[in-house]
Amino acid sequence: MTNPLLADWNTPFGLPPFADISDDDFAPGFDAALDEARAELATITDNADAPTFENTIDALELMGEAMHKVLAPFYMLAGVDSNPAREALQRGFSPKLAAWGSEVSMNPKLFARVETLWNKRDDLNLTAEQLRVLELTRRGFVRAGAQLEGADFDRLKEVKERLAVIGTQFTQNLLADERGWSMPLSEEDLEGLPDFVVATARAAADAAGEDGYLLTLSRSLIVPFLQFSPRRDLREVAYEAWVARGANGGDTDNRAIAAETLKLREERAKLLGYKDFASYKLETEMAKTPDAVRDLLTQVWHPAKAQADLDAQKLTEMMHADGINGDLEAWDWRYYSEKRRAAEHDLDEAAIKPYLQLDRMIEAAFDCATRLFGLQFAPFTADLHHPDARAWDVTRDGKHIAVFIGDYFARGGKRSGAWCSAMQSQQKLRADIRPHVINVCNFAKPAKGSPALLSYDDARTLFHEFGHALHQMLSDVTYESISGTSVARDFVELPSQLYEHWLEVPEVLQKFATHAETGEPMPADMLKRMLDAGTYDQGFSTVEYVASAMVDLEFHSGDAPADPMARQSEILDAMGMPPAIRMRHATPHFAHVFAGDGYSSAYYSYMWSEVMDADAFEAFEDAGDAFDGATAQKLETHILSVGGLREADELYTEFRGRLPGVEALLKGRGLDNVA
Ligand SMILES: [Zn+2]
Repeated sequence: MTNPLLADWNTPFGLPPFADISDDDFAPGFDAALDEARAELATITDNADAPTFENTIDALELMGEAMHKVLAPFYMLAGVDSNPAREALQRGFSPKLAAWGSEVSMNPKLFARVETLWNKRDDLNLTAEQLRVLELTRRGFVRAGAQLEGADFDRLKEVKERLAVIGTQFTQNLLADERGWSMPLSEEDLEGLPDFVVATARAAADAAGEDGYLLTLSRSLIVPFLQFSPRRDLREVAYEAWVARGANGGDTDNRAIAAETLKLREERAKLLGYKDFASYKLETEMAKTPDAVRDLLTQVWHPAKAQADLDAQKLTEMMHADGINGDLEAWDWRYYSEKRRAAEHDLDEAAIKPYLQLDRMIEAAFDCATRLFGLQFAPFTADLHHPDARAWDVTRDGKHIAVFIGDYFARGGKRSGAWCSAMQSQQKLRADIRPHVINVCNFAKPAKGSPALLSYDDARTLFHEFGHALHQMLSDVTYESISGTSVARDFVELPSQLYEHWLEVPEVLQKFATHAETGEPMPADMLKRMLDAGTYDQGFSTVEYVASAMVDLEFHSGDAPADPMARQSEILDAMGMPPAIRMRHATPHFAHVFAGDGYSSAYYSYMWSEVMDADAFEAFEDAGDAFDGATAQKLETHILSVGGLREADELYTEFRGRLPGVEALLKGRGLDNVA
């Protein structure tokens, strides 16, 4: 029998035939597909003909179709519905995939062909897009070290392998420390905690096979505990345990790993001819240089710190009024800030929820896309990866644009958080292929027969992920390697963060925020209070974020520090870190930076994108209409449809006529008028 993964898929829109695929199909399918890809690679490298764009670059773009057919459904399932069998498969696939990646990216024969084409690029009659794909392909080889020879080549390979090993170790140590700490709470210790925190603490005890209540280091429990517990003694113990993750001594201590990682990254960058790791890493980002990042962070730091200092005074007064003397400490901030929020904004989450129905918020996200880009959404039935997932045929003027899948509910086996991925990306090289895009969230599933209700944060998440989906769905390029969200990391959050702004346009919620039982629209004053609360405590959030981003940047600039913890203190002291706020992620548990390469010296990316999303939305405000057609058209033409066709700063300038400044971001965070 043929492996269903590798057969032709006679399904609606050619979606993977999930109903026919069993977990046993993946390993043989993977091996067969990898063999096929290796044969395709050999065809390219062993070709006796001189390199042409077609027999080298096009062939590389088309390589690995079978791998894609196996891995797209596999990684989808591993992310949204994992089980021990799938976890074991994943552990088996990762080293093979890493080795395959090196076979391609450090392949001297392949690089020689690409280099030949690059050197005569002006005579090849290439389209602008082909030239860009050639440039990016070559850049990928150079940055992977394909140009190195002899001992340097071998050493780079060694360094990369060691980095992968200690990156995994970092994550596992962190998980061990998170799992290894808990604190039983007595009935008296629960005083002042809202029902949902008590229920979570009860569930945590249950999961540990214990009676009573347990406080753990899970973010969804520790943060509300710090916000609501009036017990200062317990808050201190809990907070100190939370920030000590990865720095508890013994086998799971991450401090030596952090030092070794920074040292190896510096060596890697120097082997490749860069001054330091940040210069290497940022070269392909929109920011381009460490100075540009430092400049942004500094511009935001000063008003954020000024706001945080004012807030600290206010919170200290509240604490003194409670009869507690002395300084406001890090374990006090969230508690007094929550009290102040309740007093100043009078926002009752429980009263808001019935107005934010999942189905109505999906309709709202679709409706904005209809008004902005003329897209229509029609549900259709197919065998998807899980019964909770839903699919829509997305069209414009009767033409099929994309398949959009939403998988919104939390379940065991689903990775936490929310994300957008494409099971099939847009391209025109192999054929006119339209994307299959999925949004995954972790919203609470309602009891049977009741509507799913969201918090305002959940609704923002839904709009955020839908913004990523639009970036994929509206893509219109020839080459898959630059389509959709294949852009610089500090640019990729622009479409998603920008889309969140439409949720804040009052007319959207006036129409779609209707009460689940009465059907009444949300009262105007509740809507206003909900939207106003968005800028609350931004001094604190901005300070804890920028501190982490700055430490990340400085760690990777210049010589690697021998003692990262000492260097961390030095950097924070120089910034004038407010004493009652600590970094959002301190070094021993800064997984963004040390669990892998993804966000190393790039933790600033979120803020870089935020500068653009705030400024980009101002283009609609300047036009006098959040749904201004001409501005939406420009956004699609210059950003949403072109993927990585040009450098991000060029794309942005084409859309806006200039690069953004930080003013719109400061205004959005309520930090523009700080004394
Ligand atoms: Zn995102």
